[in-house]
Amino acid sequence: SFSAEAVPQAPEDPLFGLMAAYRADPFDKKVDLGIGAYRDNNAKPWVLPVVKKADAILRDDPALNHEYLPIAGLASFTSAAAKLILGADSPAIAEQRTTSVQTISGTGAVHLGALFLARFYPGKPTVYFSNPTWANHNQIFNNVALPVATYPYFSKSTKGLDFMGMKKAISDAPDRSIILLHACAHNPTGVDPTQEQWKEIAVLLREKSHFPFFDCAYQGFASGDLAKDAWAVRYFVSQGFELCIAQSFAKNFGLYGERAGCFHFVTGRATDATKTVGRISSQLAILQRSEISNPPAYGARIASTVLNDPALFAEWEENLREMSGRIITMRKALRSKLEELETPGSWNHITDQIGMFSFTGLSEREVQKLRDVAHVYMTKNGRISMAGLNTGNVEYFAKAVDRVVR
Ligand code: PMP
Repeated sequence: SFSAEAVPQAPEDPLFGLMAAYRADPFDKKVDLGIGAYRDNNAKPWVLPVVKKADAILRDDPALNHEYLPIAGLASFTSAAAKLILGADSPAIAEQRTTSVQTISGTGAVHLGALFLARFYPGKPTVYFSNPTWANHNQIFNNVALPVATYPYFSKSTKGLDFMGMKKAISDAPDRSIILLHACAHNPTGVDPTQEQWKEIAVLLREKSHFPFFDCAYQGFASGDLAKDAWAVRYFVSQGFELCIAQSFAKNFGLYGERAGCFHFVTGRATDATKTVGRISSQLAILQRSEISNPPAYGARIASTVLNDPALFAEWEENLREMSGRIITMRKALRSKLEELETPGSWNHITDQIGMFSFTGLSEREVQKLRDVAHVYMTKNGRISMAGLNTGNVEYFAKAVDRVVR
């Protein structure tokens, strides 16, 4: 029989534990480089100006109510979300080879995809993640009882991509494995394959009949250019792959707590693709109904308002360039401060890496020392959130790094 006393204590989520420790620290110059959320130059959360506008439009809409959304979510949102990631002129959309379901942000999209694959993908495939990857990938696929494994990704020596290791592992994986790929701005390393490397990865996946599962949490946030950040996904679709995409609007709209996301399934170019997609869509609806009934409305309404209005869309792109631009500026500033201080080691990876995060190469011991001597909070794998740096603290942080690595 069930014994409530026998339930063991679970470990605290490392990231949320770090946030709590930061908040409890009274030191005035403390620096939070753990959080995966954008901060402005004053270290404050930023409500995108275009989101404020969309919010005002929604508030003034007398037709707005609090009824349930359909099971698959707000149609004006999911169709705009598909165009955003696949491209407005995507043949896959024109040929009705896609189906989209609104989810509880990117996490919910990864989960819905995992649940769907666990149910319908033949032969209990192994899911391959990059080593390292977003820690939640492991937990989510464990929850649906799919076996997981990793492929090498980060080279400790170059602090760039271990492309040879990655290719070998993908080749060695059993045929028809599921390969999880970060569409852009890889978390936690900030290291992305080049377009030439993506092409080689596509060839390998095709040879092995692997299934690509794209996780796209940072479109527009990495380079500031929505099409550039979607390049890998669009390339795979152009090559006729059957694939799925987990899409988050947390970072690129600053809608973290509103949980706006989407799961897309794209089939290959078979003649009966539209029927296939119809059946997949019907199964996704059943899974969604049993898990969440229907998704939350507010974030999807905000994103839909912006995505479907050309003027607001242009303003959003401006907001994206502001966020990604500030982060790129901080990368340059951090690297040049470290080089100015002649801090031991090479620091080019700080500007080579892209997106919200940088894998500094600092050891667990150095990370602990940074926290003890300088009140700098970062995850023990040496990852820093670039958004936590600003003109007021980047020099302080560089000096602290200089101190601990000497
Ligand atoms: N995938 C990756 C790689 C991420 O970095 C994140 C955000 N931390 C997510 C998915 C999903 O986040 P959310 O559920 O907030 O959209």
